[in-house]
Amino acid sequence: MLPFVDLRQQYADVREEILPAVQAVFEQAAFILGPDVAAFEREFAAFIGISECVGVESGTAALKLGLEALGIGAGDEVIIPANTYIACAFAVSQVGATPVMVDMDDDYLIDPSLIEEAITPRTKALMPVHLYGQAADMHRILEIARRNNLKVIEDASQAHGALYRGRRCGTFGDVGCFSFYPGKNLGAYGDAGAIVTNDPAIADHLRLLRDFGQRKKYEHLLIGDNCRLDTVQAAILRVKLRHLEQWNVQRLQAAKMYDARLTDIGVTAPARHTAEGHVYHLYVVQIPERERAIERFTAAGIQTGIHYPVPIHRQPAYRGLNIPEGSYPRTGAAAGKILSLPMFPEISKAQIDRVVRTLQEHFTETHAHLAH
Ligand SMILES: *Cc1c(COP(=O)(O)O)cnc(C)c1O
Repeated sequence: MLPFVDLRQQYADVREEILPAVQAVFEQAAFILGPDVAAFEREFAAFIGISECVGVESGTAALKLGLEALGIGAGDEVIIPANTYIACAFAVSQVGATPVMVDMDDDYLIDPSLIEEAITPRTKALMPVHLYGQAADMHRILEIARRNNLKVIEDASQAHGALYRGRRCGTFGDVGCFSFYPGKNLGAYGDAGAIVTNDPAIADHLRLLRDFGQRKKYEHLLIGDNCRLDTVQAAILRVKLRHLEQWNVQRLQAAKMYDARLTDIGVTAPARHTAEGHVYHLYVVQIPERERAIERFTAAGIQTGIHYPVPIHRQPAYRGLNIPEGSYPRTGAAAGKILSLPMFPEISKAQIDRVVRTLQEHFTETHAHLAH
């Protein structure tokens, strides 16, 4: 079996570091906002190159609290990419605002040339997403935000350590949000997330929001939530953060191997803008007769993924938005063709060869099939 992401292999590599870290939390019994939470926040902020980090329970909570801390709520609109994970839209909806989608560009990222026509008097913020590990066009996005007096909330949940013009993703907006879902480039052993910012007032507000609105026990300054980063997860993340850069290098090496091998068999490799640091959370290609390709991969014991098979505007949950048929045509068309190939730092050359060989068989067969 070739898994889509091999978390067991990774655990085998870091086990000797993880177990004592977790054991120390158990022995201290400092389960809620224990010292590892503050230590991880410091270390992650230093890694990202930003002054403040607030750990929370998930990436979705990071987005939700980030929006709340920026004052976004009922009656407001937030612009999000049409091609992204559903959590972006849900976070907007859950603070009472409305997600407004914008179609993708050639890189599967929000197309900056379509943002301004989506802005209305109610628009309060832009939520660019650094999807698949590649930075969105922050230069143009920040310029649009400035011109229209909008906040920027970056979703860097797929871009831990990714660079845009030499700076880490997550540091460009008013806040940057991260998920540490297990399969992410930096993944916990359960749910976890964080928000980063250079604004100490926003960070202070976020710390209140995540912990019942309290600075002191039983003194509730505002209506807060319970969505703290778990101490056990923080201890695990501290260990894994030390490996993140190396893991991202390995992902890039794997991507380069895929690029070369796929070009040989006539598949277009995903674009990589060399000036920027793509961290290949996902390796996404477009495949004709995708469903047959997936069957072949499954038969060969290879797991693949689709990110994402049904766009947000086609989800039953958002029927109420009444989005006309044919909206976001590029996102709609891509959803029927994209396939995410196995991608994780430990993937071997032999495993990549196996994926490419299976794809080649698919092409040989589909060409024959199409010819008949
Ligand atoms: C994973 C992910 C999220 C949600 O993170 P959770 O930790 O699962 O809540 C949000 N946005 C994007 C782009 C993601 O990939």
